[in-house]
Amino acid sequence: MSDDLKKLLIVMPCYNEEEVLPQTMKVIGSLLKKLIKSKKVHPESKVCFVNDGSSDKTWALIKKATVKEKIFSGISLSRNFGHQKAIIAGMYDTDADLYVTIDADLQDDCSAIEKMLDKINDGCEIVYGVRDSRDTDTWFKKYSALAFYKLMKLLGVNIVYNHADFRMMTRRAVNTLKQFPERNLFLRAMMPLVGFKSDKVYYDRKARPAGETKYPLMKMMGFAWSGISSFSIVPLRLVTFMGFFICFLSLCFLCFIVYRWSVRGTIVGWASLVTIITIFSGVQLVSLGIIGEYLAKIFVEVKQRPLYIVDEKVGFND
Ligand code: UDP
Ligand code: MG
Repeated sequence: MSDDLKKLLIVMPCYNEEEVLPQTMKVIGSLLKKLIKSKKVHPESKVCFVNDGSSDKTWALIKKATVKEKIFSGISLSRNFGHQKAIIAGMYDTDADLYVTIDADLQDDCSAIEKMLDKINDGCEIVYGVRDSRDTDTWFKKYSALAFYKLMKLLGVNIVYNHADFRMMTRRAVNTLKQFPERNLFLRAMMPLVGFKSDKVYYDRKARPAGETKYPLMKMMGFAWSGISSFSIVPLRLVTFMGFFICFLSLCFLCFIVYRWSVRGTIVGWASLVTIITIFSGVQLVSLGIIGEYLAKIFVEVKQRPLYIVDEKVGFND
């Protein structure tokens, strides 16, 4: 009977989460036990905590939990690889029929997992968790996120509006994702590229119950830029357009100078010259910077360094 049921693995990236983990383990543990008991998932389903090079007691807590409860397992990475790669480690270094990825702070409502299961049973390969309300986010986070989704759309990147990294995927979807060799990961834009039948499940985003965000402003902006530059070449194209536009402006200016020279003789305007030089130098530097950013991406990609390195694994049967 249980052979028909799918083995679920709930992947949770954890970076210095000692404050929130005990609470998270209680909530996610009881949810998984409930799913197993009601025969919605295989009895060997597990939660997999991925320790992303934490410097606090996160890994010790995870190890202790795996000894106590067989539904818990853990992977410890050799250093901090970042949220996206920690998720990838949890999916690529394990074996399951179904995967859920969800943050360890439980800001995303894990009870949506049951609804996701229903969608999978309806034939979906990917189910996206979508935030219904962001009432608990700060004003800044709410509107900067909104602007980001809009900008991504404008730049031609297909991402699910208000979806972060809370999603369910079948083994097939994860295996397809493995065919994407890129090192610059931005999973929320990569999953729509995987395709297959997909759906959304809506939930309310809660406040972080304990601990602090691991995404301060600069890191968040870096992540947003990484998303844009990994999936859109529009900024590069803008540089080209800007180049043409500036050439056009210079031509107009040249005509103006020739006109002034022929009508009134040469009156050399120092101020206008300095202004033009400064503006164009700025534009050139920005353009070079943007090109450099893309070059840097290629630099990272060609090296093909491992996405993650596992230090230790606990709580797996094999
Ligand atoms: N995280 C991680 N590695 C990092 C940064 C964050 O594994 O380098 C994890 C973190 O433990 C959490 C998730 O990624 O489970 C999302 O982080 P956080 O909740 O701090 O982000 P926010 O919700 O504030 O955007
Ligand atoms: Mg969070």
